[in-house]
Amino acid sequence: MYKIPLFDKYNDKITYGISGRTNGVSQGEYDSLNLGLHVGDNSNDVIKNREIFCSSLGISLANTVCCEQVHKTNVHMVTSADKGKGAYSLTDTIKDVDALITNEKNIPLMLFFADCTPLLIYDPVHEAIGAAHAGWRGTVGDIAGKTLAAMHKSYSTNPADCVAAIGPCIGQCCYEIGNEVSAEFINVFTNIKKTINPVDNILIKKGSNYHLSLYNANKILLIEHGLLPENISPDTPYCTACHNKEFYSYRADKGKTGRHCALLCLK
Ligand SMILES: [Zn+2]
Repeated sequence: MYKIPLFDKYNDKITYGISGRTNGVSQGEYDSLNLGLHVGDNSNDVIKNREIFCSSLGISLANTVCCEQVHKTNVHMVTSADKGKGAYSLTDTIKDVDALITNEKNIPLMLFFADCTPLLIYDPVHEAIGAAHAGWRGTVGDIAGKTLAAMHKSYSTNPADCVAAIGPCIGQCCYEIGNEVSAEFINVFTNIKKTINPVDNILIKKGSNYHLSLYNANKILLIEHGLLPENISPDTPYCTACHNKEFYSYRADKGKTGRHCALLCLK
């Protein structure tokens, strides 16, 4: 399992997990620990996989909350009334939402990925957590900042107190983008004044097209919103396309693939 050393310091307070794609029951292109119900896999296999993953962490799938993940930036504050939403079915998942926050214990927040960026945030001062799905649209729409703002509004979270993890996502090595996407990133990130040039750091031109670093873009946004750089893990990005034997990759698997998850829960 993918480790986040910064989070391991808080293992009496939080449970976290980022799944891989092995040791599950799904077949074919979903081989084998596919956790996404929306990708055409057998639902019973997906639920079995979710149970395998949750029990490996010692948590309850029945308490777990999922959201629709529509590449937007809406954040939902999860309470005990939401327990189990999206855990066994798409019909009751939390609609039109790409980030979940909560300050209630024993409610795992579980989001799904194949190249998009998992963001996990823990506020140890106010005992609150957030989990977000940041593809390129969510990233350029600043779902990192919107999740932190929602945690501030609901739980008085100060980003300077938080630790965050940027999970495995498609790396700059493998993520060629079109001009329309690069233009949006240039537009947003030229207005961010850091000591480094954010645009130089997130876009590299190779041939006629840019390659995007979702990792760098989200890291810059977390820092811009007040996270301390030393409180963001890992130090270097981990590419899902280069490592598509270990993680699902929409690009490397040419669109037909499963989903791994990022999960965070207060104990
Ligand atoms: Zn790569």
